[in-house]
Amino acid sequence: MNCLTIRALCLSLIACVSSSREITAEELVVETEFEGGSARVMEVDSDKRFIRIMPGGDPERGWPAWWCCRVTGLTTGQLLKLSVVPSSSFLPVGHPGAGKPLSAGWALPDRAAWSTDGRNWQQTSTGERSEIGMTYELTADDQQLWVAWGPLATPSITETWLADAAASHDFVSTFELTQTREGRRVRGVRIASGDMSLDARPVVWLHARQHAWESGSSWVARGIIDWLLSDATNAVWLRSNALVYVVPIMDVDRVSTGDGGKEANPHDHNRDWSDTPHYPEVAAVQARIKKWAAENRMAVFVDLHNPGPNDKKAYFYVAPDEAIEDSQRPPRSRFLDTIEAAWHAPIPFDRNTRSTGPDYHPLWRQISSTWVTQHSNHDSVSVCLETPWNTPYSTTEGYGSVGASLAEGISLYLQSEQNQ
Ligand SMILES: [Zn+2]
Repeated sequence: MNCLTIRALCLSLIACVSSSREITAEELVVETEFEGGSARVMEVDSDKRFIRIMPGGDPERGWPAWWCCRVTGLTTGQLLKLSVVPSSSFLPVGHPGAGKPLSAGWALPDRAAWSTDGRNWQQTSTGERSEIGMTYELTADDQQLWVAWGPLATPSITETWLADAAASHDFVSTFELTQTREGRRVRGVRIASGDMSLDARPVVWLHARQHAWESGSSWVARGIIDWLLSDATNAVWLRSNALVYVVPIMDVDRVSTGDGGKEANPHDHNRDWSDTPHYPEVAAVQARIKKWAAENRMAVFVDLHNPGPNDKKAYFYVAPDEAIEDSQRPPRSRFLDTIEAAWHAPIPFDRNTRSTGPDYHPLWRQISSTWVTQHSNHDSVSVCLETPWNTPYSTTEGYGSVGASLAEGISLYLQSEQNQ
């Protein structure tokens, strides 16, 4: 992270520019010293209202795809051009793509996210793509703008979501899953209403951000929570008949420092599902799932992610045939059919699954959905949902709608399973 300030060009030049530039006297300042901030500032031209950055993440802490900065010194109505170029840092040895920079597409969405308060996020218009990167045009609403790869969702922000949900609904409680290797708290909510004994209920476990840069997946988690708190008939059924857990950020450490997480050293969270996990948060989820599986009530596990830049439909990754028993296939197939039928998000859904098998990654056996499949009761369903981030609908509202669709599908699935 760094902070670079460059003074506007000589004030005498201002007299020479057109009248539309008269409001450009303030110098621009680009900041990243905040939770989730990440940018290496390459150029700031206060006179031209132009900034160039590249993602600031350390490849040892994951793919440098994420970027987020705050720009101050703006004037309402002023145009700002932000150019983003891909990170020039090499990926570390021992990982796919080692010894060269991350492919540019991961860091350069067609539309960036912007906010005037760091909490409420909108999308820019389509940026202009060039050989070196993307340039986004923004119009200042205020003296400051946050601009990011996608809508920001840091531990501080998501903890507010959790606390607000618990404060406004007595059937919601927050919990601490564990503390990270770097001493940060990993938190979630448990949602369960009604009189049915909690010990008798099927368990639904949903978590996001095993890959830190995939901020959209936390907003899908937010959509799940919002829908579960609503008066929708299927939401009331789910919270009255199941025990639902939502953890909006797993890799709290890398999200906090603005790093990418994916393919971090020694490996990322979603390559950590072994008998000896590196990350306490993975171990903590495993311990809970083992307990519920022993009680024969692990019902649905969904790991929330964002996919590649060219994926425009949501889809599920599932454990490969080598890793799943025949008895586990019919429930999973019914689950996928039900999700498809319940889907109402503007981001379309593709029922065709992809496999996290040997061709997907050398550590394919240590991926969450595979581990959960192999350590759960035989009628449980374990999947990974990929929600596109590079579409006009990849907004906080669009992600929320995906969360609502998923949660409603889970409710309908569990209702139908009761009748199997
Ligand atoms: Zn991911």
